Amino acid sequence: MPEGHTLHRLALDLTDAFAGRPVRVGSPQGRFADSAALIDGQTVLGAQAWGKHLFVEFTGERYVHIHLGLYGKLAIGTYDAADGPPAPVGQVRLRLVGPPEPAPRYADLRGATACDLWTRGQRDACVARLGPDPLRDDADPDRAWSRISRSRGPIGGLLMNQEVLAGVGNVYRAEVLFRHRIDPMRPGNTLRRAQWQAIWDDLVVLMHDGLAKNRIDTVRPEHTPEAMGRDPRRDDHGGEVYVYRRAGQPCHVCGRAIRTAELQARNLFWCPGCQRVYRPRTSLRTP
Ligand SMILES: [Zn+2]
Repeated sequence: MPEGHTLHRLALDLTDAFAGRPVRVGSPQGRFADSAALIDGQTVLGAQAWGKHLFVEFTGERYVHIHLGLYGKLAIGTYDAADGPPAPVGQVRLRLVGPPEPAPRYADLRGATACDLWTRGQRDACVARLGPDPLRDDADPDRAWSRISRSRGPIGGLLMNQEVLAGVGNVYRAEVLFRHRIDPMRPGNTLRRAQWQAIWDDLVVLMHDGLAKNRIDTVRPEHTPEAMGRDPRRDDHGGEVYVYRRAGQPCHVCGRAIRTAELQARNLFWCPGCQRVYRPRTSLRTP
């Protein structure tokens, strides 16, 4: 599943391709056809992401809401102004086509979990249910802290809960917990406020870096392949990481084998050396 930086990148690219222009809206596959007809030819004002939700705003306070889910893809391309956009390939739920001037751009959405035409009220209600998004300047980390500090659930699960924190997926949650040496199973309400602030500040930096480079790199300068004289990581997610999808491989910091387990139906990765099991002080008492 794409992480938040991917949705913010798409929002920037959609804005760049279509904002301020009248856009033809269609649904070659048909599932979005009735809604598409309502906004076909209207002007796109821009696109924004909140966590993993993407909104393309049209005039008249109408929003196309997109959630890619596990398999969705939104591809933005350039068409030949003389020939027009290419014939749709596969199940294209939504197609946007901009005018040939100043640049002939189109976008195809396939396989998304959600593609709906919403009012402003529906958009606002969706956003209100989401936790703060580290990639948004208007985000308030205290809203996430109020949930985390009251929860007995594991911090590894809380970071992935989009109502607690929006945009963080499996890679960033595993990596940020490693970077702060926190046991993913540690209950949220045992974290100290300063630990949460450090996690948040780190996510803001890491996710902005991911947005700028369009890949997730989380290792510190002393742990890059060049610094350590090791081979770069080979993985379709790209990027250099400490624990994500490195089960059984040696930790770049302590050398112990990275571990994996399932938590809330997603694979969790951590280092048993760097992220020691959290034991509350009360359990140290002898009976
Ligand atoms: Zn380690």
